[in-house]
Amino acid sequence: MKQEITISPKSAQQFSDDVVSWYQQKGRKHLPWQQNKTPYRVWISEIMLQQTQVATVIPYYQRFMQSFPTIVDLANAEQDVVLHHWTGLGYYARARNLHKAAQIIRDQYAGEFPTNIEQVIALPGIGRSTAGAILSLSLKLHHPILDGNVKRVLSRHYMVQGHNGQAAYEKTLWPIAEQLTPKNYVEAFNQAMMDIGATICTRSSPSCDLCPVTKSCFANASGEQANFPQKKPKKTIPEKQTHFFVIRVDEQILLEKRPPSGIWGGLWCFIEAENESKLDALLAKHALTLEHKTELSTFRHTFSHYHLDITPIVVECSFNKNNQINEIDDCAWYNMHQTNEIGLATPTVKVLKTVRQMMRD
Ligand code: SF4
Repeated sequence: MKQEITISPKSAQQFSDDVVSWYQQKGRKHLPWQQNKTPYRVWISEIMLQQTQVATVIPYYQRFMQSFPTIVDLANAEQDVVLHHWTGLGYYARARNLHKAAQIIRDQYAGEFPTNIEQVIALPGIGRSTAGAILSLSLKLHHPILDGNVKRVLSRHYMVQGHNGQAAYEKTLWPIAEQLTPKNYVEAFNQAMMDIGATICTRSSPSCDLCPVTKSCFANASGEQANFPQKKPKKTIPEKQTHFFVIRVDEQILLEKRPPSGIWGGLWCFIEAENESKLDALLAKHALTLEHKTELSTFRHTFSHYHLDITPIVVECSFNKNNQINEIDDCAWYNMHQTNEIGLATPTVKVLKTVRQMMRD
């Protein structure tokens, strides 16, 4: 059930003043997306920063902006090229949604990022908090935000019961965020709240003595920081097994393009099968003769909803006919040293690295 939290206008004002003046003195102002701020630049950074740390994002962001300096450049790019720029960042639905949203902006808004929050929320991959962050940080429009870091700060400060994923928890937090977000300095306030959550009010060890709202924080006053937000009940996630067939003819490897949605959607991966029985049919289909087979160590890749134990099998082959290269369905041969300009799933990158190493040894 939604919790009723009353905040007086005076204490809301005090909270936002404390946060804004902290930002002016100590907030991060030199990150690449904080320079020449536009909705497009902030949008890309906000999407990359979901689930990913700032230090990891910076080089990806710089490469992405260099290749796609405008929304129209992004919209006009091939999906493979966009996914290639995302290779290694994970959660590839983010990249597919960015690409789709850029095409909508090109086609419906003449390439200009919309400034109406409802229109922004209607774009693929953008929720209310991300829309608020884009419009407030780039255009100073008055919108609250509530990303994971901000939720943690507010949940501790006002001792809000519940945890991420519970509707009542969010229903309690949004009105708090609305009341605290000031009309002036909205961009400084929102940026500061994200920074405080990421660097001070951290998940396991908040540095309350460095926090600008320490004096008014209820969890700090009662020593209950560790109880907010409440821990999500742990769910055990299933384990699945699969094989990757690393089919190789000299320097060429056979990759398969995944369907556009679902796990690794639109990315290039090794051909995958639950067991080895599919291999003979696969070799026949691609007119290949088996020369040698090596099983590599099994490794685990974890998704949010299951663990996948992957056993790669390097299958060295030769072509049945002279140098014949068959491209069938969504399969294609790639030079394993030059798999550029295509999006590769993270485990594919990992296995390719091992195979290159094996070839060098
Ligand atoms: S005082 Fe501590 S618990 Fe409260 S918001 Fe600040 S860092 Fe978080």
